[in-house]
Amino acid sequence: MSVMDAFRLNDRVALVTGGGSGIGLAFARAVAEAGADVAVVDWNEEAARKAAEQLAGETGRKVIALRADVSKEEDADRMVQETVRQLGGLDVCFANAGIGDEGALVTEYSKEDWDRVIAVNLTGVFLTDRAAARVMVERKRGSIINTASIYGLVGDFGMGAIGYTAAKGGVVQLTRTLAVQLAPMGIRVNAIAPAFIRTNLGEGKLREDVPDPELRKVHEEITRRTPIGRWGRPEDLAGIGVFLASDASAFCTGYIYAVDGGWLAV
Ligand code: ADP
Repeated sequence: MSVMDAFRLNDRVALVTGGGSGIGLAFARAVAEAGADVAVVDWNEEAARKAAEQLAGETGRKVIALRADVSKEEDADRMVQETVRQLGGLDVCFANAGIGDEGALVTEYSKEDWDRVIAVNLTGVFLTDRAAARVMVERKRGSIINTASIYGLVGDFGMGAIGYTAAKGGVVQLTRTLAVQLAPMGIRVNAIAPAFIRTNLGEGKLREDVPDPELRKVHEEITRRTPIGRWGRPEDLAGIGVFLASDASAFCTGYIYAVDGGWLAV
């Protein structure tokens, strides 16, 4: 097989949670462009539907929209069952849905914020991976890709995203353990650790057009601190997404791939 053929995803089915926007949408587009049929899952039904329509038009692949809240067990199980029913299988699963955190000093950080962020960003990844693995073990084939963060590997850059960093650190360890458990069953499990990406979640209050000079300063500081000298774009995740989904990464499992403009190298 030529190396470019190894990247192809023809006849594969992929599911992407949080596929309605940002990084998830970029993953969904990338794997559809590489030849996969795709289930775009989001708790925002409208966003999922729009994304699916757009991607089907752009790529000519079969792309379906499903509404699910990944922090709910029944939803996570149902999204996988629906994908198998409508698209005929499940080869690739991106556990990507996530929410942001209200940064705070730990002494001020509320249990409500902690519970809210852990429920989606950690429990949601576990429930998604478990549901996908249950289908994949039967077919002895599959690739699971979790969206971690550089904040699963190092501490937060001064904003105090306490639940977020704890959840992403959990995703890193979940990825390693599942990779070891599932390797004999033909399933690979990896994670992608983005740094600052220009999405609703990534930029949030830090959008450059925000008039608050304090927030603008943080935005500029992040640019300056990043060796490549800019924020990431969702498309910057596309290449690694296809790589990890495809046979091009057949010998890669249990690893955390940073896509961070060099952030962790400093
Ligand atoms: P990023 O791509 O940086 O994670 P976005 O906010 O653009 O930031 O994308 C996250 C996506 O995940 C959104 O479309 C959002 O609706 C979705 N999402 C967040 N929480 C859940 C959840 N519990 N279940 C399903 N989708 C979710």
